[in-house]
Amino acid sequence: MKSSKFPLETGKSISVVIPVLNEARSLVQLLPSIAQVLAQSGLGWEIVVVDDGGTDNLREVIADFAQADSTRNVQLVRLSRNFGKEAALTAGLEHARGDAVLCMDGDGQHPPHLLLEMIRLWQQGNEMVIAVQRMRTSESLFLVKAKAIFYRLLQGEGRFKIPPNAGDFRLMDRRVVSALLRLPERSRYMKGLYAWLGFRTVTLPFDADPRWEGKSKFRFRQLSELALTGITSFSMKPLRMVSRIGFGISFFALMYGLYIVFETLFFGNPVSGWATLSAGIMLLSGIQLVCLGVIAEYLGRIFEEAKQRPLYIVADTVDHSGLALELQPRETTF
Ligand code: UDP
Ligand code: MG
Repeated sequence: MKSSKFPLETGKSISVVIPVLNEARSLVQLLPSIAQVLAQSGLGWEIVVVDDGGTDNLREVIADFAQADSTRNVQLVRLSRNFGKEAALTAGLEHARGDAVLCMDGDGQHPPHLLLEMIRLWQQGNEMVIAVQRMRTSESLFLVKAKAIFYRLLQGEGRFKIPPNAGDFRLMDRRVVSALLRLPERSRYMKGLYAWLGFRTVTLPFDADPRWEGKSKFRFRQLSELALTGITSFSMKPLRMVSRIGFGISFFALMYGLYIVFETLFFGNPVSGWATLSAGIMLLSGIQLVCLGVIAEYLGRIFEEAKQRPLYIVADTVDHSGLALELQPRETTF
């Protein structure tokens, strides 16, 4: 399927989408190395950088990069504020015009030299090529364990698997991108959405490099929020767990009730058990509140979806493609 006017030649083209939040210093090095690799691929190419509400000099960095060589096609999409990486990625996918779209981080952790191998796998007929991180050496043991539990909670639902450690560093055929953009949900747990889509997929293991500049934007709080989004969008396990807990406690209460009646009838009732009573009430109120919280988490998601707000707002776009006149913006689904 040749769905875009980009590039002018009849050959295939690829768009590299990079969502960034204050990564201009890394991009100074990263963009030229991506350009160098893409030039070897023999494909027409463009880079789509999405500025997710950053405050650095990204605009100048992009302009300098584009002006250094007229064959460099770069779009800068500036969002009106920080909408989060998942929304920024979606913005990038909507602006990408290539026959394949490759998403990567802008902090230098995703090595550009892998791009050629990923492109080769796509040209062999794979519709999705996922670069899977071997081991995140910089992560604490606690984070590694927490992630393992998260993926366990997520798996076993439905007919598709969300591969652990498969992040956003991946190449997608235009067919996959079109399908992905048809998914209307607001809570976007991208890794889950990719897996839900299916398509012919291959994985390519790689070792992530350390960040070139600054710190990860995903602190524990952001990670746990993302994990909650993932679980509530892809798994009903917590809701089922709530009803199972309810059944379990009811069964226990029934047995205990029978025991009390039995004890009163056969041994008399020497009014005791205050400690058991108060501990029981406190424990059960706690459990009830936790269960309400679980249900509220899903209710909150429904509220978010019902509002139907756009996923992101584009403040402006700068198109440094030499082919600007020929480019047709894709229709927006959000
Ligand atoms: N990022 C973004 N918006 C955000 C947070 C992060 O666009 O709100 C970008 C960030 O600039 C980087 C990529 O997402 O290009 C991955 O972020 P980071 O390296 O902080 O995450 P990690 O590698 O720790 O998962
Ligand atoms: Mg990173």
